[in-house]
Amino acid sequence: MPSNSTTPAAPVVIIGAGAAGCAAARILARRQIPTLLLEAGPAELPAALRVGNHLSSVEVDDWWWEGGPPRGRGLGGSTAVNGMVLQGIDPRDARRWGWDDAADLQSDLRDAYPTIEEAPANPPGPFTTAMSALVERGFPGGPATSASGGLGWLPLALALDANGQRLTAADALLPDVADPNAAFLTIRTDSAVERLVERSDNSIEVHLESGEVIEARHVAVACGATNSPSLLLRSGLVSDTNISDALNHWSTAVIAELDEPLQVAPGEAGIPSSRLLRCQTALTENYRVDLQMLVLDHTGGSKEGRRHGVILVTALEKERLLVLEAGIRQALYWLRELDGVRSVSISKDRTPVQHQCSTLRDVVESASHGLAGHPSLSVIDASAFPELPHTNPMLTTMVGAAHWATHWNAAV
Ligand SMILES: Cc1cc2nc3c(=O)[nH]c(=O)nc-3n(C[C@H](O)[C@H](O)[C@H](O)COP(=O)(O)OP(=O)(O)OC[C@H]3O[C@@H](n4cnc5c(N)ncnc54)[C@H](O)[C@@H]3O)c2cc1C
Repeated sequence: MPSNSTTPAAPVVIIGAGAAGCAAARILARRQIPTLLLEAGPAELPAALRVGNHLSSVEVDDWWWEGGPPRGRGLGGSTAVNGMVLQGIDPRDARRWGWDDAADLQSDLRDAYPTIEEAPANPPGPFTTAMSALVERGFPGGPATSASGGLGWLPLALALDANGQRLTAADALLPDVADPNAAFLTIRTDSAVERLVERSDNSIEVHLESGEVIEARHVAVACGATNSPSLLLRSGLVSDTNISDALNHWSTAVIAELDEPLQVAPGEAGIPSSRLLRCQTALTENYRVDLQMLVLDHTGGSKEGRRHGVILVTALEKERLLVLEAGIRQALYWLRELDGVRSVSISKDRTPVQHQCSTLRDVVESASHGLAGHPSLSVIDASAFPELPHTNPMLTTMVGAAHWATHWNAAV
């Protein structure tokens, strides 16, 4: 494509092919609305990112954005580098945000991934098995937790295919070439957007870094919680007073040095986690699930990593230090009870998990995803969450984007 040329585009241009962009493209293609999906990074996922052990993704330098918080750059966005934990949207989040069809949208999105039963066998390793015996005695000191309703000691659903290989949002959600609806979707990778220009007739010019300009009737911004605000800011469409610091879950890793019986066997450092505990501490006013503990059997593939198990304690509300402390105390209590734990250390308190969101919450209307004052622009990704979600955000982000794509009115 020559630089500085102008290309008339499909009615909808989605910018960013991460969790949100792929979920929206899936629905628009199904509605047979011609759509162009632009992605800054490359298309081909390196083999090292396919493996079930997400801890190895830090070794693949060229699939991350430089500077700022960690986030993926390429088809699939952060879903190509993340921990792959697929957690359903909290129904109370969906209700208060006006995403009234969230349950149906989620079940459609979830169908694109293997169910827990179809997923590759991911048996708990020795550390998780030992932890199971303790957790199942009850938390915190109450009856045994139950696997129902997203509360309890749950088998983990991961975004993996039947062979245990990573499924990015692009793999799972974009229409396959054999799907007749695929003809409605054009995907362009290595197409970073530099800025957007709003014309007097409300159509949008999408200026790529290459110099090419694409004309769009409607633009859905899905560049993630860091890049969406910066694109809108450098385009003069929001001011820096509209951009809040990213909301994030706070987390602390309680790290146990393990004796041999609790270590994973050499050469078996595959998928590190298989179980997740979700619970209500009753320390939060609204009595919601507010604490998560993810048990990891090892901290990597190396010999050294094999010797360490982790309980990743996460508070699901904004800066809930009390909840985090209660979780850490409980984890320490369990580890004291466990034979085979040599020593315990704790990561720096309140480490933010890589769950950036909600940077544009004051200017985006949560049910419609419209950017205030700009009728041809929607923001459909994690930057537009009105509040911190009560789950890991990947599936919630997809549900939000699918909600937008389902209700976007092509006639306007
Ligand atoms: C290391 C890590 C681990 C995580 N683990 C989990 C987990 O286990 N479970 C979970 O639920 N959540 C997890 N998350 C969070 C989850 O991945 C994100 O919440 C989710 O991907 C957000 O989706 P998004 O569409 O908003 O952004 P992204 O998925 O980041 O997608 C944004 C896309 O936009 C593209 N883009 C950006 N700027 C431009 C531009 N100017 N022009 C064109 N394209 C552009 C990017 O390259 C990217 O592809 C993790 C995140 C990270 C970083």
